[in-house]
Amino acid sequence: MVAMLNRAGEDFAAEDEAQILDAINKWLDRDVRDKVMELEHADEYPHELVEQMKALGLFGATIAQEYGGLGLPAATYAKIVTTISEVWMSLTGIFNSHLIMAAAVERFGTEEQKRNYLPRFATGELRGGLALTEPNAGTDLQAIRMRAVRDGDDYVINGTKTWISNGIEGSCFALLTKTDPDAEPRHRGMTMFIAEKGPGFTVSRKLEKLGYKGIDSAELIFDNYRISADKLIGGEEGRGFHHAVGGLELGRINVAARGVGIANAALKEAVAYSQVRETMGKPICQHQAIQLKLGDMATRCHAAQLLVESAANAYDKGERCDMEAGMAKLFASEAALENATECMRIHGGYGYSKEFHVERYFRDAPLMCIGEGTNEMQRIIIARQLISRHPV
Ligand SMILES: Cc1cc2nc3c(=O)[nH]c(=O)nc-3n(C[C@H](O)[C@H](O)[C@H](O)COP(=O)(O)OP(=O)(O)OC[C@H]3O[C@@H](n4cnc5c(N)ncnc54)[C@H](O)[C@@H]3O)c2cc1C
Repeated sequence: MVAMLNRAGEDFAAEDEAQILDAINKWLDRDVRDKVMELEHADEYPHELVEQMKALGLFGATIAQEYGGLGLPAATYAKIVTTISEVWMSLTGIFNSHLIMAAAVERFGTEEQKRNYLPRFATGELRGGLALTEPNAGTDLQAIRMRAVRDGDDYVINGTKTWISNGIEGSCFALLTKTDPDAEPRHRGMTMFIAEKGPGFTVSRKLEKLGYKGIDSAELIFDNYRISADKLIGGEEGRGFHHAVGGLELGRINVAARGVGIANAALKEAVAYSQVRETMGKPICQHQAIQLKLGDMATRCHAAQLLVESAANAYDKGERCDMEAGMAKLFASEAALENATECMRIHGGYGYSKEFHVERYFRDAPLMCIGEGTNEMQRIIIARQLISRHPV
């Protein structure tokens, strides 16, 4: 039996990984594949599939077994995300940002917070995500304006979050606020809470999107929302930026794995279609112009997958992997975008039709270049790391 370790140091057998991936593949074939087109075009939240995802344990995939999760290593988790994204990337968003919220609690929360929240996150009874972005601040997180003011045993929170995945269907969010807006450096004034929906915490609107359909993205309003001080992650003010950025490594591996899924799906469709579509008396796959595209597409898929594996393995070993996760995210998301575009070209006019999956890849891929830190920022993170790891 080949043994692996997850980040919590728990044993995990390679045979278990094969079993889990087999169960996911069977579920995709049996319950998901045929429903994607309809749910996607109706932009309908997949309630029934979410119940099945709960039963599969996906909402606890990376949560330690001690707290009721599956305790999967990031490397196995990334393979699950890629496998599901090949069929419908949107589904992965429902548990990805939820698990990043869970990771913030597991890595930085007090023992009481872990015992209170993680088992319910793991079953999917309590679901949600990460609430960082505001109308005025995405990349520059330290510029957020949401205020949390201490009032006795509580904090009172005011402000707006936007683009929050699972904002409507979810009920609990890792919420980044400012407890000291005058702090210098700015990040010292930032604090993260585990915020459950309640009086003063409302959804103002669902955001309409180009792609990433089915999953809800919302604007959230906090109007004198009162939260008990024991919901402050880790119990200490001023650590929120560190908590938010700490979750982004896993988040970037997630997004990179999704990118691999889209890139793979586009390649598979292109390889299949190019063998059945004929022009000038032969299948288009026999034209060199198409072969050049297929060759590049396949190489991108393989390289992206290796980068994801390498970042995920570093994460599982507890190594610093912001550069590796950034590289994986950058390369895999650009691979998704390029493969989606090439797949569309190979399909000619049919690539533009809503009756094929190809147009969905084309709409979904750009999000991978934006979410969890834009690709412009990934390049900057990689360069800064390079310089700091190789001083002269
Ligand atoms: C579908 C969707 C789902 C999302 N889900 C969530 C979620 O669940 N939770 C959450 O908190 N957020 C979420 N987001 C928000 C997302 O993380 C942000 O959109 C992203 O971080 C970029 O921030 P921004 O949109 O404010 O762009 P900006 O920060 O305004 O950036 C605009 C442009 O300027 C570039 N730029 C900015 N600063 C620099 C710099 N210093 N150097 C070089 N270039 C720079 C950027 O790369 C980009 O090209 C989601 C977004 C989308 C579209």
